[in-house]
Amino acid sequence: VQYIPNFTEQSLDNINSIYNLSEDKQKIAYLTFDDGPSHLTSTILDILDKENVKATFFVIHHSKSLNKYIKRAYDEGHTIALHTATHNYGIVYASVDSYFNDLNIISERVKRITGEESKIIRFPGGSSNTISRRYSPGIMSVLTKEVLNRGYRYYDWNISSGDAAGGSPSPEQIYNNVVNSLSKNKVNMVLMHDIKPYTRDALRSIIRYGKDNGYTFEKITMETEMITQRVNN
Ligand code: ZN
Repeated sequence: VQYIPNFTEQSLDNINSIYNLSEDKQKIAYLTFDDGPSHLTSTILDILDKENVKATFFVIHHSKSLNKYIKRAYDEGHTIALHTATHNYGIVYASVDSYFNDLNIISERVKRITGEESKIIRFPGGSSNTISRRYSPGIMSVLTKEVLNRGYRYYDWNISSGDAAGGSPSPEQIYNNVVNSLSKNKVNMVLMHDIKPYTRDALRSIIRYGKDNGYTFEKITMETEMITQRVNN
C-alpha cells in the first residue's frame, strides 16, 4: 500500500483505484460515439464488427435517412443511448422541462427504430458543462439528480479523443490522445464522435492497441457504473 501524504481529490482517486476496482474492471474500456448517426457510422460499424467489439452510440436527431444506422448498430449488439434531440444548448438547457422535452423526442425515435426504450444518457457538453449557465443558472445540479429520479443513468467520460476540439487533427493525434490516456487503474470511458473522419480512421488502431495491451472493450449497460464529472452549474 502506498503512502498517501494528504487527502487531495487526486489521492482519493488513487485510493479508490487501489481498493475498489476488482482486477477485471481494471482493464475495461468503453468506446462511446456521440452526435451521430452519420454516414461515417457505417464504416465505424464495419470496423467494430470486424474487430468483434461492442460500443455505445449517444445519438441525436438527424435526418430520417440516417435512422438505418441506428437500427444496424442496435441489431449488431451495440448500445443505443440518448444524447438529446437537438443538441442545441439554448434549447436543451433553456429549462428543466425543455431538457426533458428534447430528451423525450430522441427517446421516442430510438424506441420506434429499435423497439426498445433506452435509459442510458449523456448530457450535451457533459454534466460538468458551464455553457448551460448562460441559459439556466444551476440547471445541471437539478438535472443530474432529476434524471436519476426518472430512471436514467448518465455517463460522462474520463478520456477524450480530442475529436471535438475543432481544427483538423490527424488520425494519429486521435489515436495518441486515446491510447496515452488508457489506464489499468480506472474504468476507461472514451469520448469520440462518429461524425469525424479522423476518428473513423483512428478507430482500428485504437482497438488493436487496446487488445494488444490487455484491455477488454465493452458496451454500456444499465449495470455499468456511472462515470460522472463534477457538476459546475
Ligand atoms: Zn455531443
